[in-house]
Amino acid sequence: MIVIIGAGISGLTLAYHLEKQKKEYILIELKSNENQVGGYIRSVREQEYLYELGPNSLLCDSEVLSFLEELNISNEIIDANVVSKNRYVYKNGAYRKLPSSPVSLLFNSFFSWATKFKIFGEGKVRSKTHSKETLTEFFERRFSREVVDYALDPFVSGIYAGNPDELLVQYTFPSLVEMESQYGSILKGLKKNKSTERKRVISFKNGMQTLPKALATKTKIIYSEKGVQEINRLNDKTWEVVTSETTYQASKVILTTTTHQASQFFVKSNPKFGESLQKIAYAPMVAVHTVYYKNDLKMPLNGFGALHPSKEGLFSLGHVWSSSVFSGRCKENEVLFTTFVGGSRGYEKTRMEDHQIMAKVQKELRELYGVQTLPVSQRLFRWEKALPQYDKYIIESYEIAESLEQQHLYICANWKGGVSIPDCIKKAKTLAEKL
Ligand SMILES: Cc1cc2nc3c(=O)[nH]c(=O)nc-3n(C[C@H](O)[C@H](O)[C@H](O)COP(=O)(O)OP(=O)(O)OC[C@H]3O[C@@H](n4cnc5c(N)ncnc54)[C@H](O)[C@@H]3O)c2cc1C
Repeated sequence: MIVIIGAGISGLTLAYHLEKQKKEYILIELKSNENQVGGYIRSVREQEYLYELGPNSLLCDSEVLSFLEELNISNEIIDANVVSKNRYVYKNGAYRKLPSSPVSLLFNSFFSWATKFKIFGEGKVRSKTHSKETLTEFFERRFSREVVDYALDPFVSGIYAGNPDELLVQYTFPSLVEMESQYGSILKGLKKNKSTERKRVISFKNGMQTLPKALATKTKIIYSEKGVQEINRLNDKTWEVVTSETTYQASKVILTTTTHQASQFFVKSNPKFGESLQKIAYAPMVAVHTVYYKNDLKMPLNGFGALHPSKEGLFSLGHVWSSSVFSGRCKENEVLFTTFVGGSRGYEKTRMEDHQIMAKVQKELRELYGVQTLPVSQRLFRWEKALPQYDKYIIESYEIAESLEQQHLYICANWKGGVSIPDCIKKAKTLAEKL
């Protein structure tokens, strides 16, 4: 029997594929989430308002779209509005539109001419990466400091809420390492690998949680009061998975939880693994939702949102202009901002009281968008451990995890092989085929 621990998108997708293959499995989730399936994916509907507490959107290729079709939720999909192709970054005291193509990069004034020359001359860089090279080192070596500060830094905040000085390129963006090694140039690699497939940024009419909810109807979940407590190796072929109620014997075990939760399972049976998992850092994050009347804003929200490079010293990591990206997020005469506060470099901000964080966000919105009134409403949600950091502390756990695979204990979690929902969906499918 196969035991899957955790019913977030990774565990649910894996269970779904095993169900299709008619393989015997059990999927264990905490009882407290019985009405709240999906782990980090959480949508809250309150009358006309739809708040995403975790992920806001899903970047779909044809593989993910056909998975959604299989789940019968294609009719629930809503595409991001065309305007959301515009992405803004705060630079030298104002929002500037990010160039979206090489041509716009050339003619747009986002980067200095010196940086533009470096970008277009990137193919001439002959040096090669090494196993512990950070994202900052990689991008500074191949491009320039300006690219690090105003493209890499906000991009990494947007995906990992992380610090590019710490994250390792080999684990965070392995495709870049591959391109450097194969083509000697990232730009050349991007050109060669350019897919003709148009990717779609989507959500669902009732929010992102539609996806795990659909999967939950097609899988069997066992809810346990305190969930899995321990994992022990009984003999060459058998694992013992201990929950607060029952002990299961399994030929294969799959971990999908955060490293901190997983580390508890190995305290007695494999303390080395347990300790290495404890060392993996997570960026904390607070998601703040603020609603204003549209007419009270001095700036039109014509885009996906805006990111704030750490160098600019703003309070938040950035704002998603949620009501511009997807319709049906608030009333017609209003706008909804989803603001992210914290990240790996903003721990102290996430320790502030709710009212302090909300006041700081209001002040920032006043200054950036010229809004002079109080919001129609504001609320926040805290993620103490939002996103795992693929830095040097992750390597030891990867090494142990790889050796445990020989004994049929697998990792299918967002701390290995990518954090995005499409990454989780694809990893789960690949693993299901292997089990
Ligand atoms: C604020 C935020 C914004 C994000 N934005 C995006 C975005 O826009 N697009 C995107 O693609 N991705 C985004 N992500 C990333 C993405 O949402 C996550 O990486 C992904 O949802 C992780 O899913 P998972 O199933 O691997 O893990 P989880 O969602 O963590 O699932 C693990 C499950 O294990 C359960 N569990 C824990 N302990 C036990 C136990 N002892 N026994 C049994 N079960 C247990 C948990 O309750 C949970 O349900 C965002 C993440 C955050 C935090």
